Amino acid sequence: QEQSERESLFIALNFAKDFFVKNLQTEEGRSIGLSYFKERGFTPQIIEKFDLGYALDGWDQLMKAAKAAGFQEEILLKAGLILQREGDASRTYDRFRGRVTFTIHNISGKPIGFGARILTKDKNQPKYINSPETPIYHKSDVLYGIYQAKKAIRDLDNCFLVEGYTDVISMHLSGIENVAASSGTSLTDGQIKLIKRFTNQVTVLYDGDPAGIKASIRGIDLLLEGGLNVKAVVFPDGEDPDSFSRKVGSQAFQDYLKENSRDFIGFKIGLYKDEFAKDPIRKAEVIREIVQSIGKIPDPIVRSVYAKEASGLLQIEEEIIHAELNKSFIKNS
Ligand code: ATP
Ligand code: MN
Ligand code: MN
Ligand code: MN
Repeated sequence: QEQSERESLFIALNFAKDFFVKNLQTEEGRSIGLSYFKERGFTPQIIEKFDLGYALDGWDQLMKAAKAAGFQEEILLKAGLILQREGDASRTYDRFRGRVTFTIHNISGKPIGFGARILTKDKNQPKYINSPETPIYHKSDVLYGIYQAKKAIRDLDNCFLVEGYTDVISMHLSGIENVAASSGTSLTDGQIKLIKRFTNQVTVLYDGDPAGIKASIRGIDLLLEGGLNVKAVVFPDGEDPDSFSRKVGSQAFQDYLKENSRDFIGFKIGLYKDEFAKDPIRKAEVIREIVQSIGKIPDPIVRSVYAKEASGLLQIEEEIIHAELNKSFIKNS
């Protein structure tokens, strides 16, 4: 019973994916959706590789097509493709309307959800609308792009972690395929487990804005706790991997990643060094924060290597770092 419901959901999601992909070739889809993708530099090949599509601008375009193909309303609801009207549950309508669609695939390439981007500058509408949680889509266990990236992640033994759908796609266009997105939500243990199936090395490439930097700091600690090797790159203010790679071009983008990859200690020192150059109290706080991050590392040998590095970079005796590490270790156990 449960198995057959999951199967029906997969079939419904796949139908919606095909529908959105085909819509891109209709007159409306071409003039609105396809031209939007072209403006962003997306090629026909990348559109196909990622099953990008277009949700027609109407209340029940998908629902009509799905019903005509034999899908029950109940399954479309469970799949998160349609919604019930507030105050009148008997009336339903399409969740995704007049937006370009990003198909979210599971690890074996089956569609399990969608992200849909607005095409206007209307500030009263959310920029992205995403599928809700369903029996086949658990957001906390999914990374966007993992299906298209898994082989490259394994081969290159590193996963670039970005915030958004378009960051993943632009990086593929720049020739970097070992990349996946946490899709705006903060990183979870389930997502970290997923990465660990393919590599133990992550490079965090979050947006160069306060929200992105905050998410990097939090994500780095979680990745360290998961036993991963973590690096991070900071982008110039206001840039994300998509905007920056298009601004400077693929070669300069790849060079930038190489030149600006820092381990988590270098990343944090880079963030705060202007502040603590003038302020010893601030420096003490930063040291404590770095030591707390080191304390998250489960492997004692790796931990001690980073303690030594921190001691050199921060010019503080290693014994003090170890003493602080022991303090927080006792606190946490
Ligand atoms: P774009 O380049 O198209 O403007 P982005 O990926 O740079 O998109 P961000 O604002 O940086 O957009 O958000 C990062 C990610 O967070 C998005 O790709 C999307 O997955 C998610 N997100 C952003 N805004 C929303 C929203 N209003 N509702 C739900 N998810 C969102
Ligand atoms: Mn962002
Ligand atoms: Mn962004
Ligand atoms: Mn962006």
